[in-house]
Amino acid sequence: MQVERRRIVVLGTGGTIAGRAASARDNIGYRAAEVGVADLLAGLPAMDGIELQAEQVAQIDSKDMDFGTWCALARRCAHWLADDGVAGIVVTHGTDTLEETAFFLQSVLAPAKPVVLTGAMRPATSAAADGPQNLADALAVAAAPGACGVVVAFAGAVHGAADVQKVHSYRTDAFASGDAGPIAYVEEGALRLLRAWPQGGLLRGVAALAAPEAWPRVEIVLNHAGADGAIVRALVQDGVQGLVLAGTGNGTVHHALEAALLAAQASGVAVRRASRCAQGRVLPRAGDRLRAAEGLTPVKARVALLLELMR
Ligand code: ASP
Repeated sequence: MQVERRRIVVLGTGGTIAGRAASARDNIGYRAAEVGVADLLAGLPAMDGIELQAEQVAQIDSKDMDFGTWCALARRCAHWLADDGVAGIVVTHGTDTLEETAFFLQSVLAPAKPVVLTGAMRPATSAAADGPQNLADALAVAAAPGACGVVVAFAGAVHGAADVQKVHSYRTDAFASGDAGPIAYVEEGALRLLRAWPQGGLLRGVAALAAPEAWPRVEIVLNHAGADGAIVRALVQDGVQGLVLAGTGNGTVHHALEAALLAAQASGVAVRRASRCAQGRVLPRAGDRLRAAEGLTPVKARVALLLELMR
């Protein structure tokens, strides 16, 4: 009997997982985005019944992620998701903005198949590289029956796009999902599912994305001791269309910064109130004059507002 082979498409975008250092002991002084995605896959053991197809969408350090790369990536994902022969997609990505890309892709694609992002904290040349295991885990998630939505496979855990955050600048276990916790763990290639896969999006597919140069301008402003409204006034003067407040605590804001945000809102700028706290969400209060971004971190509230202003 012929066993049906399942195809997983692996889209490379760069990052430390594709990084190269001068020495195998150097985990810091490397150049990100040097090794091609096909070469990353070549180092992995074959998976029974799984055929891999590699495609290099970009080759960048994700600190430099931009709207053009996001649009290109979303379009390539949509292309492969529409192919009946493709079971799932894996995206290799730098860790710095990985949570933003995951949230963006879930918001735009809301895929019924798995789109699994992964990366590494150590370069491919490291004597103790974490990339190969993360990539193998991501492939296992993409091949898992019933998996769907955009998730991040990292250090043995699977995080949902809405909750995942990079929480450590150096450790290999660099991602967490705050109060929600991970969706699953990957153990020896098997999934231990804890809760539901991500569902739902914010935009009606990639066709609704504006051309990269026509994306609205949305900036993040931070509340802190001694904050004032000067930055907000300068941004409004400069034509900003949306502002996300990274507020303190439950989205609280210095009265001087609040006055500038309310004036910006009155002049037509969309304002959302998030929190700079690592965990928890901003709870809306009666009489709120600045709309709470609820469960979203400032960077994800910015993605949501970018897409909202595009609709
Ligand atoms: N700067 C790198 C990037 O985000 C860091 C990493 O991948 O870990 O591309």
